[in-house]
Amino acid sequence: MYRDLKGKTALVTGSGKRSGIGFAIAEKMASCGSNVIIADLGKGPESIGGVKMGMHQEMESIASGLAKKFGVKTLAVDLDVTSNDSIQQMIQRVKEQFEGIDALFNNAGASIGAPSPAHMYSEEAWMKTIDVNLHGTFRVSKAVLPLMTVKPAAIVNIASKAGKTPPLANGAYAVAKAGVIMLTKVMALELANQSIRVNAICPGIIMTDLQVYRFEMEARFLKSTVEDREKEWAKTIPQGKIGSPAEVADLAAYLASGESSYITGQAINVCGGLLMAL
Ligand code: NAD
Repeated sequence: MYRDLKGKTALVTGSGKRSGIGFAIAEKMASCGSNVIIADLGKGPESIGGVKMGMHQEMESIASGLAKKFGVKTLAVDLDVTSNDSIQQMIQRVKEQFEGIDALFNNAGASIGAPSPAHMYSEEAWMKTIDVNLHGTFRVSKAVLPLMTVKPAAIVNIASKAGKTPPLANGAYAVAKAGVIMLTKVMALELANQSIRVNAICPGIIMTDLQVYRFEMEARFLKSTVEDREKEWAKTIPQGKIGSPAEVADLAAYLASGESSYITGQAINVCGGLLMAL
């Protein structure tokens, strides 16, 4: 519980599915008394590369559920982070209902065209993956910054372990997440004197739709099964288990709160000890 988050406003991209990390962040922020904006694709596509997307009905249900449970103000708004028009329409809706934004969580992400070795990757899928994960983070941050009128404010980017160490046959995603880590550092440096902190979280293996899809992808690539992939991964994690979205959300809320006031430009792992490089 971070008391300074009470009455603040948080925007969470890709938060329109109860199974996802974005929802866990929105729920954690609402539990601290923050107003939350649930932003996700809304109108479709319903799935990308076999992973279900955040659709409007579930977004509305999440927004009304959080408002009722925590007594905060919420808004569900459609957003495609690959479209500047869509981002501007979202900004307009936010401006109509909120004074400003105190915390932005760039969580929307997707992996398109995997599994494939980089040298055989479809160029279209490669570009689209980088567009959603990296350029989406850039576009939304740029559009939201003018709404961060009250300082201090914070941006938290959801990068990945894959941005620090290469995953198998998922190169576009890894390259995009490495870019998100560097974008985090660039913006942290440039915004430090404006009292806006920018940090990244690098989740390891977290149980969500995206992760189930990855287990399926690896199982196909390695001619194994999803259950085996889950067990094999759990064995490689020092804490011996796959993580939960709530474990990522705990750090996200901390990075938005004043409790982390001297932390900026960092890319922090939440991975049960899977990554321990200096
Ligand atoms: P998820 O698929 O459940 O959530 C991703 C969300 O992003 C979905 O709600 C989807 O609708 C939304 N999205 C996709 N494309 C979008 C677009 N163009 N515009 C707006 N929204 C869009 O997956 P998750 O595991 O909850 O992932 C959340 C974030 O965490 C992602 O950035 C992902 O890369 C990152 N991550 C996840 C794991 C993991 O193990 N689950 C590990 C490392 C990083």
